Amino acid sequence: MTTTTTLKTTKSEEIFAAAQNLMPGGVNSPVRAFKSVGGQPIVFDRVKGAYIWDVDNNQYIDYVGTWGPAICGHAHPEVLSALKDVLEKGTSFGAPCYLENVLAEMVINAVPSIEMVRFVNSGTEACMAVLRLIRAFTGRDKVIKFEGCYHGHADMFLVKAGSGVATLGLPDSPGVPKSTTANTLTAPFNDLEAVKALFAEHPDQISGVILEPVVGNAGFIPPDAGFLEGLRVITQEHGALLVFDEVMTGFRIAYGGAQEKFGITPDLTTLGKIIGGGLPVGAYGGRKEIMEMVAPAGPMYQAGTLSGNPLAMTAGIKTLELLQRPGTYEQLDRVTQKLAQGMIQVAKEAGHAACGGFISAMFGFFFTEGPVHNYEDAKKSDLAKFARFHRGMLERGVYLAPSQFEAGFTSLAHTDEDIDRTLAAAREVMSSL
Ligand SMILES: *Cc1c(COP(=O)(O)O)cnc(C)c1O
Repeated sequence: MTTTTTLKTTKSEEIFAAAQNLMPGGVNSPVRAFKSVGGQPIVFDRVKGAYIWDVDNNQYIDYVGTWGPAICGHAHPEVLSALKDVLEKGTSFGAPCYLENVLAEMVINAVPSIEMVRFVNSGTEACMAVLRLIRAFTGRDKVIKFEGCYHGHADMFLVKAGSGVATLGLPDSPGVPKSTTANTLTAPFNDLEAVKALFAEHPDQISGVILEPVVGNAGFIPPDAGFLEGLRVITQEHGALLVFDEVMTGFRIAYGGAQEKFGITPDLTTLGKIIGGGLPVGAYGGRKEIMEMVAPAGPMYQAGTLSGNPLAMTAGIKTLELLQRPGTYEQLDRVTQKLAQGMIQVAKEAGHAACGGFISAMFGFFFTEGPVHNYEDAKKSDLAKFARFHRGMLERGVYLAPSQFEAGFTSLAHTDEDIDRTLAAAREVMSSL
């Protein structure tokens, strides 16, 4: 797809053209390729605070934040300085290191459900492992996930998945054996009756329910009142475990994640993104009696050459320290509210159907009247309009996620002036759609 553009992106185009012969689709993760919004991706050169610069030296206000980790702003000086100090000691130990204790303690103190934690290298790995764990603990094979929720790219979760799978409108992926997903049951988000029906249909076979407590991978979809509470009750009634995938929401919508925000404590939690401060990290944790099933304390096998990597631990520790400072979440909330409400107002003033919302540093909007309770509702958004909107914003120096089915992220580095500039750009683009 080609789109006329007023941006000068000659170098980006050259690099991306070459990349297409080197890597599938020219990228190492699908949504980056701009397939659903058209035009070519810009190739980044550097990031700082709320901004990114491309290889042609165009500057953008960034609302992707490397998909979540950059909640303190990109390349925060204190994170970089801590990394430089630790770097001198080496890049990987493959043996116990004190920094693992420090980050583990911070995570355990922050996240209500976590009494013990295992670090891995990505959110995908965390979700794979947590699924193995709930199966090991309950001795049951089936799991319930929700349509449009994304739990990484492991086989068992590539059923009605969100993120790039939703963005590209892909069917459940080839290469995933039917036998692998036969135990993956799906329900619409915010639909307790559907969950009850699945438990009734498969008595004593369901190991647990996994969900994004606030969906970010089908666009931004918050839980309806009573939904998380309902899942807590239903899982308990059936001897199944409740897993919050807080890879995105952990330390973002509150320091203790969605479970703190909504006061619902799951049995297990997966984390990633922010806890690595921009380096590759994931984690899963929960009640001690469950976590002690993990090898070598228990029989459930899971391992990793680079897990607990000292650089990744350091970036995570420093990022969480920054987030602990007073006023952090109030500031994130205020800035994001201004942006999210402003966007919808600007869209409506220009005569577009629009709806959306925000919680703390996470936001989203759809080009549909709404309300959006689940992935089916989200799909009613005018995707062609979103693509034109995305392009228009890019040309005016605002970098939004190149997909309608991804939440947006703000950071501590975003100022009122950044939001004002963003809304001014949005006003121009909305009136020309
Ligand atoms: C990003 C994400 C994942 C996958 O994490 P990776 O580090 O990309 O493997 C899993 N679950 C949720 C909710 C996510 O947002």
